[in-house]
Amino acid sequence: MYGARLTRFLPQLRRFKRHSHLFIKDGFQSMDVEDDLFRAPPAHPYQPVDLQLHVPADALTATIDLLCRAGRRESGLFWYGPRDGAGNGSVAYVVAPRQRMTWGNYAVSAQALAEIVHHLRGEWKPLAQVHSHPGLRVEHSNYDDRMVSSRRALSLVFPSYGRHTEPFPIGVGVHEWQNGYWHLFDLVSARQRVLLIGGTVRVEDMR
Ligand SMILES: [Zn+2]
Repeated sequence: MYGARLTRFLPQLRRFKRHSHLFIKDGFQSMDVEDDLFRAPPAHPYQPVDLQLHVPADALTATIDLLCRAGRRESGLFWYGPRDGAGNGSVAYVVAPRQRMTWGNYAVSAQALAEIVHHLRGEWKPLAQVHSHPGLRVEHSNYDDRMVSSRRALSLVFPSYGRHTEPFPIGVGVHEWQNGYWHLFDLVSARQRVLLIGGTVRVEDMR
C-alpha cells in the first residue's frame, strides 16, 4: 500500500483483463512512503448500489488467518467467485499469491498473479482484493487506489495486519470504485454491501 511503481498487466492474462483495469507492482521498488499516503476526498458522494457481495464465514476466517500468517508484514489476497446476472458476487476462493511482504508494503509480480488467474474456474470472477495495513487506518492510500487490480471488484483493507478482533466489517476498510474514485464505505454501507453467509470456500496460500 505504501509505495512502488506500477506497470500494465501482462497482456497474456487476457481473461482477467476482460474484467479489469489491472495494474501491478513491478519490481518491488519502494518509493517514499509519505508521498503516496494521503489522497484527495471524493468530488461526489458515494451513491449506494443495490448489489451485495456474499462472503462465507469460512472465507473471512481464512482471510484473517492468511493475513496473520504474514506476521508483522502487509500481505495481499484475492477473493474470487461467481456473479449472478445482476452482479451480486459469492466468494468461493480465497488465495494468497506469491508475493514479497514488508512492514508497509506488499508486492505481487505479474507472473505470480498469472499462476492464479490461469487456474481459475471458468465462472469465477475477481470479486475483491484484500490487503492488510499495520495500524488502524484502513483508507486507501494513493498507491492503493492505483494498485487495485479490478475496478469491478471491491477492495478491503484489514487493520493491524489482520489481528483486529471486532466483528466484521467493523474496523475494515471496504472500498468500491464509482465515478472515478475508490470510495471508503461507512459502516452502514459496508454492512449493506458485504454480507456474511454460511458455507465453505477453497483456500490456497502460494506465498
Ligand atoms: Zn494499503
